[in-house]
Amino acid sequence: MPNWRVLIGVVVTSVLGQPATAKDFLAGANLYNDVARYASFGSHRFGSPGDRATADWIAGELQAAGLSVEFQPVILGRQYFVDRATAEVDGTTVDATPFWWPPSDKSSFRLTAPVARDGDVAGKILWIELPYDRVVARLGAGKGPAIVVSTPMTGWYSCVCERGPGIANFLALARTVAAEKRPGNFVFVATAGHEIGHGGMELFLKQGAPPPQDTLVWVHLGASNACFAWTAGPEGFATEHKVDDTLRSVVLSPSAQLLVGETFAAIGAKRLVAEKQAVGELRDVQAAGYPNFFGMAGLHRFFHTPSDDLRTTSPEILEPVARAFADAVRKAGERGERAFK
Ligand SMILES: [Zn+2]
Repeated sequence: MPNWRVLIGVVVTSVLGQPATAKDFLAGANLYNDVARYASFGSHRFGSPGDRATADWIAGELQAAGLSVEFQPVILGRQYFVDRATAEVDGTTVDATPFWWPPSDKSSFRLTAPVARDGDVAGKILWIELPYDRVVARLGAGKGPAIVVSTPMTGWYSCVCERGPGIANFLALARTVAAEKRPGNFVFVATAGHEIGHGGMELFLKQGAPPPQDTLVWVHLGASNACFAWTAGPEGFATEHKVDDTLRSVVLSPSAQLLVGETFAAIGAKRLVAEKQAVGELRDVQAAGYPNFFGMAGLHRFFHTPSDDLRTTSPEILEPVARAFADAVRKAGERGERAFK
């Protein structure tokens, strides 16, 4: 069973202070800068250099915001990077991506990483463990029920609008909470391995997450929460730079209906009240027994393709989502358990 890398940031403030006059981290231009930064790392496949650069960047940003950060230990049991894959139909050959995991008996493998294991490994290299940094963040001692904020960091290809808006929201929320010195126990977790069975979330739920009875709410910043709608035309796909609200959903526990109804009123999206089963990584959160949760998840035109790039979002469509999440997190913190009655 492979292990997964999880980046955890924790803010705990026990001192009640006046909120400082803070920079508006939730402004669209600031959010878009973070999406652009995320895009600059290239492919975000779990275990890739882009994944690593992303984790280091997020850790650095959380640290700069005043959170203490460390990596949870993770070893990647296996991961492949595709050199070349093609599909052939009627004599035409096109580039392709293998179905994951590629069957090991039908692929050829080239080892590019130096392998260091105990003993003499010459000629019998069977297993690669890619070393990762270990970063976990803490500040002070956790008091009171936790507000957990999660977002996945990795995905297929560039995954700019799949993951970028969630990551930008995540950083903006962490900076806001830290700058305002909000009382409460906040845990920020950026997980890896979303594209291969939600691995990072699975690991965090087993190790590191506050237990359900100590958690006020779980807030998940999932896929494609602010991406453009596109239409197919003679010159390819075109967009009027309007958000696609048919492909995104607000997912919530029944207990979060009042809070979400109040704070997400301006967000055009399907509402998915998880009576029995949530979707995406919130499904894992719900299955682990957390009664209060909300988040967003969706798709977009270029979802899971190499064309998921910076053209798929804008400051204007990013900002309302970030503000809705910030408002909901603020009110949850102020109201405590009463927010979920
Ligand atoms: Zn994905």
